[in-house]
Amino acid sequence: MKTCNYRIGIGYDIHKFTVKRKLILGGVKIPFSKGLDGHSDADVLLHSICDAMLGAAGMEDIGHQFPNTDLKYKNISSLILLKIIGNN
Ligand SMILES: [Zn+2]
Repeated sequence: MKTCNYRIGIGYDIHKFTVKRKLILGGVKIPFSKGLDGHSDADVLLHSICDAMLGAAGMEDIGHQFPNTDLKYKNISSLILLKIIGNN
């Protein structure tokens, strides 16, 4: 019997719009009148990719890996979070 050597993960993310932040999607600043509210930069695209990778690895989600109670993740770029997850 042949076994599969790959894993699949599904990720999704939701943040509220706010006028107090810039909109960042996929690590890119998007010109728009509102941004997304969150502890980090609230990049829903990168958060979804992180959660898909974590799910495929059988690990806890991004909120568990980088809790919003930890000040070291305040306003952090989600590119950094993705890099950390990709290296684990
Ligand atoms: Zn998020």
